[in-house]
Amino acid sequence: MSGPATPALQQPGGAPAPRPGALAIDAYVPGKSKAPAGVRLRKLSSNETPLGPSPKAVEAFRAAAGDLEIYPDGTARALREAIARAHGLDPDRIVCGAGSDELLSLLALGYVGPGDEGLFTEHGFLVYRIAILAAGGTPVVAPETNLTADVDAILARVTERTRIVYIANPNNPTGTYLPFDEVKRLQAGLPRHTLLVLDAAYAEYVRANDYAAGIELVSSCENVVMTRTFSKAFGLASLRIGWLYGPSGVVEALNRIRGPFNVSGPAIAAGAAAVADREHIDRAVEHNARWLAELGERIRDLGFEVTPSVANFLLIHFPDEPGRRAVDADAFLTARGLILRAVGAYGLPNALRMSVGSEEANRAVLAALAEFAKGPQLG
Ligand SMILES: *Cc1c(COP(=O)(O)O)cnc(C)c1O
Repeated sequence: MSGPATPALQQPGGAPAPRPGALAIDAYVPGKSKAPAGVRLRKLSSNETPLGPSPKAVEAFRAAAGDLEIYPDGTARALREAIARAHGLDPDRIVCGAGSDELLSLLALGYVGPGDEGLFTEHGFLVYRIAILAAGGTPVVAPETNLTADVDAILARVTERTRIVYIANPNNPTGTYLPFDEVKRLQAGLPRHTLLVLDAAYAEYVRANDYAAGIELVSSCENVVMTRTFSKAFGLASLRIGWLYGPSGVVEALNRIRGPFNVSGPAIAAGAAAVADREHIDRAVEHNARWLAELGERIRDLGFEVTPSVANFLLIHFPDEPGRRAVDADAFLTARGLILRAVGAYGLPNALRMSVGSEEANRAVLAALAEFAKGPQLG
């Protein structure tokens, strides 16, 4: 005899209810990719590279098309070894994932449970909240100072229940970063049982003498991991490849939790070729450095505030006046096929994030913003 299930286990329509944390998640909304009909689209909303991937990666991807019926190597050895060679690391302390997003989620699944807290910062990457809630944990948000992570504010929110702290360095969508000294101070202030996750998705782009992605800290601490991605500077977002460098204890845990074939064969082949093509990545970084500086300067000259960025995108702030707001600029640019990222979900309703694009796309945005800066279009 089975009576009716208790309401908590069922949704109103009768379907099984997911755990409470799942329904507290606002689903991640990706950057837009549609322009009005007949208008040329320039997508600058997801921090993808205008240079595309290394031709060697594309070639490796095509060659892998001949083996699609074969399961990939579940340990992604070829990819881990290529990454290890490029960075001087031990391949046994690398875990690859279907994008670094998967690894960020697996870390929460592995270390955060009901009653545990996961910490991140006010304008931090949205995936952290999702990962903590999906694992059943409680998200805790630390305020930022000048749109930058604040080590003292983070440490002030650590409790005995804090199991994980996520820091995007540099952060998306602000483009700001913590100097390595500050990252080390953060690690030193955390309890040993709290895992510090350094999400260095944009590390390749950073040109600041006081920045480090975190390899040195991972090597010397048992509670620090660094995540990296092939989606940004390497131009392989569609293939979904990320990796993590961590202490062997964390690596072992993740290798038990992850899907046994979480990285596809074409991804392993293309990623290994991409990370070995130093010249291609240098070109992408050069292009970015030039345009990041130029766009920042020109957009400021038009009268908009721009947050100093070390990544491949800029946060542009708009005045809080009718017809002049970020939402108005977004509509104005979208009508011209220029797709930037609205960042209201990041607590930044009056800003837009612009990815550094091709020279042509960058110039088109500059021209459109110059027009928008002249004032509301009446009639
Ligand atoms: C883009 C991005 C990622 C990487 O995502 P993938 O899943 O590797 O494509 C991770 N962290 C931040 C902060 C990002 O902006």
